[in-house]
Amino acid sequence: MKYVYGIIIALFLFSPLAKAEQQLSYPDWLEQFVQRAIAEGHQEAKVRTLLGDLTPDMAVLDRDRHQPEFTRPIWQYLESAVSPLRVKNGKQAMTEHALILSELQSSTGVPAEIIASIWGLESAYGKIQGDFDIIRSLATLAHDGRRRNWAEGELLAAMSMLDQGLVSRKNLKGAWAGAMGQTQFLPSTYLQYAVDGDGDGKKDIWNSEADALASTANYLRRHGWKTDKPWGVEVNLTSSFPYHLAEDTVLSIGSWQVRGASLAEDRKWSKTELGDGARLLLPAGAKGPKLLISGNFRVIKRYNNSTSYALGVGLLARALVDEAGLLTAWPRDVKPLRRAQIKQMQELLKSNGHDPGGVDGLAGPNTRRALRAYQQRIGLLADGFASEQMLQNLKVSQPVP
Ligand code: CA
Repeated sequence: MKYVYGIIIALFLFSPLAKAEQQLSYPDWLEQFVQRAIAEGHQEAKVRTLLGDLTPDMAVLDRDRHQPEFTRPIWQYLESAVSPLRVKNGKQAMTEHALILSELQSSTGVPAEIIASIWGLESAYGKIQGDFDIIRSLATLAHDGRRRNWAEGELLAAMSMLDQGLVSRKNLKGAWAGAMGQTQFLPSTYLQYAVDGDGDGKKDIWNSEADALASTANYLRRHGWKTDKPWGVEVNLTSSFPYHLAEDTVLSIGSWQVRGASLAEDRKWSKTELGDGARLLLPAGAKGPKLLISGNFRVIKRYNNSTSYALGVGLLARALVDEAGLLTAWPRDVKPLRRAQIKQMQELLKSNGHDPGGVDGLAGPNTRRALRAYQQRIGLLADGFASEQMLQNLKVSQPVP
């Protein structure tokens, strides 16, 4: 599963407009990289020993170049993220590691079930970590050039891990794009955020559950996790609700309430809750579940910059402690748009005077913002959801002269 998530993240992180750099031969790339490594304080002989005999890994390039025609609908992603098996295994893992999880909850303020949920999505509770040689994978991506600067930076970080004796060469294993161990940290993330959870002096995110869980908790705390705040709550909205405020606008929950939001679950907002800042999330438009999300949702996205992922973490965490999932059904009858259709929609948004932030076939934040502006302008419910219906509307709209 990790590979699928990786592709989705890669699509979000790396602008398809970025031109692939000129293709160098591996030896030519290596000469250039050696200079960068020396400039950053690495020893030339060590770099040549590490990388001199490697060959690019085609399995890594195949995965990196694969672009799915469809982005899976969020409900399909969530079925896998919060599958009965993952919930069952997660409950068992939480019982097995209850002591360290409760210690981490006290010391970092991150709930045990959130730490466990990320563990479950990243590596199936440590069971699926990937068996790629991280050095070879990163050298392959660096040589390939599409995201050379990023891959070289991670390669340098992996070399620092070896230099500092944090990991042995043969144990430097992980997923195809450089994510390692039970936490699926990139080398640069490992250097900054890995901690020793079991007190043996090593930060072993591959073999020590305590180290992996402590590192994840540390990562979330350092990115600003707020203790005792929910990541989000499901809401119902009135028919006159100002949907165009979705996604970008932060308001207090009290202000959202004034505008027509009410709790979906059967309870009242608490007084402290009403003062909390929140954004409105419409993962499948006005017909699907609607949520008010807190800063903690954004902290989860720092782990993996995808709304689907963060919602998966939040909902799996709830399931692990037997809390209810979402009450509103997903609009499963809505067909996902193909990339070509989203491109067409982006072109039409442009000719209608709205900036979708590039024509890349992905309905990202800029495209959704442009769509909301278009919907608002022509008097439609402005939920920013890219659907076939919206594409039809745009096709008959008069272009802005
Ligand atoms: Ca340790």
